[in-house]
Amino acid sequence: MSENRPKILMIYTGGTIGMKENPETKALEPFDFNHLLDNVPKLKMLDYDISHHQFGRPIDSSDMDPRHWGKIVKVIEENYRDFDGFVVLHGTDTMAYTASALSFMLQQLSKPVIITGSQLPIGEVRTDGEENLITALQIAAAKDGDGRPMVREVAILFENFLWRGNRSTKRSSDNFDAFRSNNYPELAKIGLGITFNKEALWRSPVKDSPLVVQYAMDTNVVCLDLFPGIQENVVRHILSTPGLKGVILKTFGAGNAPGEKWLSEALKEAVDRGIVIVNITQCPNGEVVPHRYRNGLGLTRAGVVPGHDLTSEAAITKLMYLLGRGLSNKEVAHYMQCNLCGEMS
Ligand code: ASP
Repeated sequence: MSENRPKILMIYTGGTIGMKENPETKALEPFDFNHLLDNVPKLKMLDYDISHHQFGRPIDSSDMDPRHWGKIVKVIEENYRDFDGFVVLHGTDTMAYTASALSFMLQQLSKPVIITGSQLPIGEVRTDGEENLITALQIAAAKDGDGRPMVREVAILFENFLWRGNRSTKRSSDNFDAFRSNNYPELAKIGLGITFNKEALWRSPVKDSPLVVQYAMDTNVVCLDLFPGIQENVVRHILSTPGLKGVILKTFGAGNAPGEKWLSEALKEAVDRGIVIVNITQCPNGEVVPHRYRNGLGLTRAGVVPGHDLTSEAAITKLMYLLGRGLSNKEVAHYMQCNLCGEMS
């Protein structure tokens, strides 16, 4: 064993990867970390110094919320100096939300935080969990030619690809190749080897900066999906939710909405009350171009700001993060349009 073995901290939150079938109900339920380790004897073949952290009770990621994100951030902050990289084991359902949230909460990150999970539990014969786990560990340990971490951001490793966390979306509930980043290329391709897409990897413009963490995430936000036939009373009801501070408005195509007067009036009134409204497209690929059509321009005139090519997951978590920073609504609206950590082109 070499002295310079990569030191990796695995953080186990739950998800299918560690689940086991309940013999009575036949439903999959979260199980503890030792079960997971017992089922991957190959881990011992990696010459790594692997430690692990398990939160009290592993959860289905549908139960994830900002308090859990805060706990993950805390473990990373407390262990940041002592480890070369971090692997977070997580359910797939909300993995893209967690990856996006962590990318904002861990500003100026210069070490890898690789999130992975699986579609089949690790104890099952055809599991994808074993390969995902081992590849995630290898990526967390990978160094560049100068001995610095190859990956210096939050990323999702799944099946054959490494994706930027805040660009990722779960695209399939039953395919092993479950994630995609529709507006940004892969950070690495996994085949016989791991081929990094070096141009695509995030490099902070601020050199050698210390990690800056933020725990506060303001959840007084909502995603509002437009659809043909949406009613004024529904929109007005949502926009007048007590305490509401921010809205992700999911619009059609290049950022268009029905041209009805009541809609632009309702949106403008909400903006005037201090609510930040951000326009993102319902299309998986492409971006909001607010001036392309009159129906998009109407939103800009109402004070809605363009979220360009943000994913829904990145948009809502970025809004929580900026509101959590205690910024004014003007500043939040401004930063929603700026690229903070690779989330937007
Ligand atoms: N429901 C599971 C979860 O997100 C699904 C999975 O892990 O794939 O925790």
